[in-house]
Amino acid sequence: MNFLKKVSDYAGEAVQAAKYIGQGLSVTFDHMQRRPVTVQYPYEKLVPSERYRGRIHYEFDKCIACEVCVRVCPINLPVVDYEFNKATKKKELKSYSIDFGVCIFCGNCVEYCPTNCLSMTEEYELASFDRHDLNFDSVALGRLPYKVTNDPMVTPLREFAYLPSGVIDPHDLPAGSQRAGSRPEEILATLEKDKPDA
Ligand code: SF4
Ligand code: SF4
Repeated sequence: MNFLKKVSDYAGEAVQAAKYIGQGLSVTFDHMQRRPVTVQYPYEKLVPSERYRGRIHYEFDKCIACEVCVRVCPINLPVVDYEFNKATKKKELKSYSIDFGVCIFCGNCVEYCPTNCLSMTEEYELASFDRHDLNFDSVALGRLPYKVTNDPMVTPLREFAYLPSGVIDPHDLPAGSQRAGSRPEEILATLEKDKPDA
């Protein structure tokens, strides 16, 4: 009886193992039918999505040193250095900095800034050999963002979200081909059209 039980357990385990191998291979065979989506970085780069939250851009001249960005930041990150001028009863901004080695790119500061002097850009290449280089002062924050589409050394490729329906390879895509779905302005136009007359 003991021998028969061992044989039956062994057969059960063999069936289970065959099932798992079959499941794994089905994923492999499925991918063998797909086209490659490799991006030859850094010669080719994906165009980030419209609402991508990359490096923050800052305009020193518009900042009123209100420190709202510090209060809404989950880690109180922006450093707003100012002096209070008693004669004019106004804050005088000295410097402003954000450490992108710590920032989580949540966008709260951008959302709540009352003068819109902060904005999220599509710049994502922030790698550095020294983490202290990631602490951007107002000059570094005020630098205009790098744009994949403006770099003559780079072939910009459209992300999945920008590809026409059914296309998964952005290489050799004819210029002007429409992406899947509607653009925000098209959706707004449809909503306006469907609005009942006031
Ligand atoms: S993006 Fe978020 S974490 Fe970064 S500075 Fe702004 S509020 Fe703070
Ligand atoms: S919320 Fe805007 S205006 Fe206020 S300190 Fe921050 S960056 Fe400057």
